[in-house]
Amino acid sequence: MTKKVMIVGLGLIGGSLALGIRRAHPKIEILGVDRPETLAIATDRGLIDRPSALTEAVSVDVVILAVPITQILVYLRELSALGVRALVTDTGSTKAEIVRLADKLGLNFVGGHPMAGSHKSGVNAADVNLFEHAYFLLTADNELLKDLYSGLGAKFMVVEAQTHDRVMSQVSHFPHLLASALVMQSDGFSSDFPLTKKLSAGGFRDMTRIAASEPAMWASILLSNREAVLSRLADFKAQLTEVESLLAAADSARLTDYLTMSRQARETMEILPGNSANNHLLYISIPDEKGATLRVLALLADISITNVKLNENNREDIHGQLQISFKTRDDLTRAKELIALATNFSVVEG
Ligand code: NAD
Repeated sequence: MTKKVMIVGLGLIGGSLALGIRRAHPKIEILGVDRPETLAIATDRGLIDRPSALTEAVSVDVVILAVPITQILVYLRELSALGVRALVTDTGSTKAEIVRLADKLGLNFVGGHPMAGSHKSGVNAADVNLFEHAYFLLTADNELLKDLYSGLGAKFMVVEAQTHDRVMSQVSHFPHLLASALVMQSDGFSSDFPLTKKLSAGGFRDMTRIAASEPAMWASILLSNREAVLSRLADFKAQLTEVESLLAAADSARLTDYLTMSRQARETMEILPGNSANNHLLYISIPDEKGATLRVLALLADISITNVKLNENNREDIHGQLQISFKTRDDLTRAKELIALATNFSVVEG
């Protein structure tokens, strides 16, 4: 039975894990390793029982490394040098490089990747609901770890490390690079056409949201999975060349076929709703009449709302004028049901 856990890195992910462990296992002692300022906040907020030092890892049951990838690699070496026998796990967004090193060092290691996040970072962003309904990928099945994390409300899935990185390169890492490149292209274009910045809404916003994430963290993710991402990039250039030729030839039939195939392919994909405080979003089309907004808000009086935004201009690419974000996915589902029962307003998930 797990009695003592050490979390190294108490930022968004490590802090949220601490809260989830506490929720299911209030008796487990949680030790923290981070910068002194962070540890003070983590202790005050009750995320950890007390600050610690890495050397104490020799007497805990589980060590969780929730630091940037480059630091995970450093800590694996240090844990090995200390002769730690405890179960060691991590939260890094790539897995192959990390698992390869842990195996080489002979650690008792299972890689982890919680597929939830936010553009926010740091201990103050820790949220017990962050992993609710999200996939939590493990590089090997491990009952102890699944039990430790049972309070997170996550769905566990075992994925071999190399496969993990190949799949992530396509669905996460390469799209990130693409989003950043799209923003850079548009930024350059806006020096000739300043209106570009003013009118960047809807599709552009959806495609580039991830480019707002923390640059240093993303640079380390991309470098850790460099070859797989480079392969996706080369493959994508071929896709672009194909669409370019259809457009250049003004081939309406084949262009429509291409867009139809793409739409059909998207429908077969299980596109996940995502798990961040910002992702439990509803867009509600409200009629332009007095009291419509208040009517919706009154319906949701008992539900925990984190943000309400009114879009002033109802453009074709904005899903609805009223945008409400919820704390958890369950709250969002309840809100959707209530609005459908009491109004005929159209509601779309963000
Ligand atoms: P974060 O910046 O919120 O927190 C990182 C924490 O690690 C900070 O408290 C920082 O002080 C601490 N830290 C940094 N270097 C350290 C060191 N050498 N020793 C001790 N503490 C140190 O970052 P995060 O979002 O919590 O990410 C942590 C890990 O989880 C990363 O490996 C990241 O790839 C992974 N991850 C992040 C997300 C996300 O969306 N943020 C999602 C899944 C996985």
